[in-house]
Amino acid sequence: MPGFELFGAEEQKEVQDVLDNGVLMRYGFDPMRNGHHKALELEKDLAAKMQVKHAQVVSSGTAALTVALACAGIGSGDEVIMPTFTFVASFEAILSVGAVPILCDIDDTLTLEPKAVEALVTSKTKAIMPVHMCGSMADLKALKAICDKHNLILLEDACQAIGASYANKPLGSYGDLGCFSFDYVKTITCGEGGGIITNSELFADRAHKYHDHGHDHVGNDRGAETHPFLGYNYRMSELNAAVGIAQLRKLDYTISTQEKNYTILRNALTAIPEVTFRRVPETGIESYAFLSIFLPTEELARNAHKALGSHGVDACFYWYDNNWHYYKKWEHLLEQKSLNKLSQEVKSGLQKNKASYPASDVWMGRTISCLIKLNWTEEEVKERASKMINAIKSVLTEVV
Ligand SMILES: *Cc1c(COP(=O)(O)O)cnc(C)c1O
Repeated sequence: MPGFELFGAEEQKEVQDVLDNGVLMRYGFDPMRNGHHKALELEKDLAAKMQVKHAQVVSSGTAALTVALACAGIGSGDEVIMPTFTFVASFEAILSVGAVPILCDIDDTLTLEPKAVEALVTSKTKAIMPVHMCGSMADLKALKAICDKHNLILLEDACQAIGASYANKPLGSYGDLGCFSFDYVKTITCGEGGGIITNSELFADRAHKYHDHGHDHVGNDRGAETHPFLGYNYRMSELNAAVGIAQLRKLDYTISTQEKNYTILRNALTAIPEVTFRRVPETGIESYAFLSIFLPTEELARNAHKALGSHGVDACFYWYDNNWHYYKKWEHLLEQKSLNKLSQEVKSGLQKNKASYPASDVWMGRTISCLIKLNWTEEEVKERASKMINAIKSVLTEVV
């Protein structure tokens, strides 16, 4: 997944354009720019690549989620349904607009389970936020049907799955709003950055204003602009955008390389009948950023994860015990350890979250996800496949 594996002359050239004129900010300073508008260019490229009308780049994936929620009018006391398995940023973004994250069980897609989602809809629910973890996606058709029925926003957190598709659409473009992260370990990186995509004129217009203190961006005197509503600063710098432009051009190559490496590993693992694979919803095509497998039990998964490490297979994750990706370890959030006072609405809303999610535990306890890298040679992938087989077989035979 990490785009940083592909850094080269292309990124350097784009950054040099910015350094040559010294305008590091996306707005203003037109006479000095020599025609370079990197953030704007990245937005045009991203919208075209994602086949949507609008893209807004921002300072991080967390900022993308925050701005998207604000643009959809989600705020104080509103409930947003999100999965138990995600990066903590999804939870943080909802809290940051004053809304309440409502945790929901996942299934063998490792994303929201639609029936569990519907059971959580209340009169306060405003949005459903599927998180397309580890390069694959949620059952968006089923989630869209729930959104249509209850008049909810569908906001896709596609931070870990850029380049995947669903129903012939680039992932992130199916819902009302889609968000990407370009942080340092993502498929495309610009150091720190994020993007929002949408076909909604209204949301796009709100996004450029909200992410820049509410500026209306009319005319060429920034000091004279009006502010139709409140906003904050989630701008992306020209330096970051420059890197993003070069990285986005490499997306097709990145995805096809991931697919090639993933396929070799997956085909090899089919030799072990006890190993099964994460379910990809119908019409979905993964970005192949990770290969996620299930072992028959939690104990076998734990042992297999350890064995993978000791057999020299790096970058495999057992998320169930991970501090940042599964709700169980988010004590600081679940116990409301906030520096500043949370509103009473948020405090009582958070009480709705259950103490345990056994259905999620079943899947997460059995899951191991292995990162797919870009710079492996075919020989290295094949060697890795045989090490994986040996490692997993070693724990399976122990039991018999
Ligand atoms: C990385 C990530 C984010 C946040 O992105 P940052 O750019 O690191 O703020 C949000 N959601 C998911 C699922 C992520 O993996």
